[in-house]
Amino acid sequence: MKVDILGVNVDNDDMNKAVNKVIEYMDSDGKYKIYTPNPEFVMMSIEDEEFKGILNKGDLVIPDGIGIVIASKILGKKIPERVAGYDLVQNVFKRIKKTNRTVYLLGASEGVAIKAADKMREIHKGLKIVGVHDGYFDENEEKNIMESINTLKPDLLLVGLGAPRQEKWIDNNIHKLNIKVAIGVGGSFDGMAGNVKRAPLIFQKLGLEWFYRLIKQPSRITRMIKLPVFLIKVIKER
Ligand code: UDP
Repeated sequence: MKVDILGVNVDNDDMNKAVNKVIEYMDSDGKYKIYTPNPEFVMMSIEDEEFKGILNKGDLVIPDGIGIVIASKILGKKIPERVAGYDLVQNVFKRIKKTNRTVYLLGASEGVAIKAADKMREIHKGLKIVGVHDGYFDENEEKNIMESINTLKPDLLLVGLGAPRQEKWIDNNIHKLNIKVAIGVGGSFDGMAGNVKRAPLIFQKLGLEWFYRLIKQPSRITRMIKLPVFLIKVIKER
């Protein structure tokens, strides 16, 4: 079921259900788009109708930020838990590593996606990452990337170009691509490569991962300043 968070419809699945859906998508015909909104996405979507429309066309829209879960509680339409895109992908990797499902990583700076692929193959022994490309390309390069993806036919395409570029890219191109599932993963490749560390588990459990990231990278304050504005809007909406 979808829960309306200031115009963005988010699925109220927990992690387990979300992972099962991704596996089902890979096993069925058709092409599926998965997005991972946090409050920043919702704030962007208020000013960017195109972005909002794209998010609302997502087959699975998971609550990547704790702010989305809190907002759902304030609005009395409970989302059970945060489903971080990063963790969703890790759980999907665990489930497909012993199958013949294949993965392609598109995004992040040069070298990062390659390193992320190496690390993931190490952690998830047997995982078939069949191709990678960085996320800084022009139109010509984009044609080559799409041709390469269509030759490799990965079941799962992870797109880490930052929001809203990755969602717009997926929406624009999925029908031309020989894939089953595309997920917008933000800065996940930096995390997979080990360049950006996840918050310790205790911070994640307390819903304070955002706070940890803020201490580690104070420049994020300009992005996070939108969080209280988001919550005020949600309270007004109620
Ligand atoms: N990125 C990219 N191409 C671009 C702009 C950004 O590949 O043109 C990558 C960037 O290297 C980083 C990610 O997109 O890996 C940043 O995404 P975002 O800031 O949304 O990540 P978050 O930290 O919010 O998950």
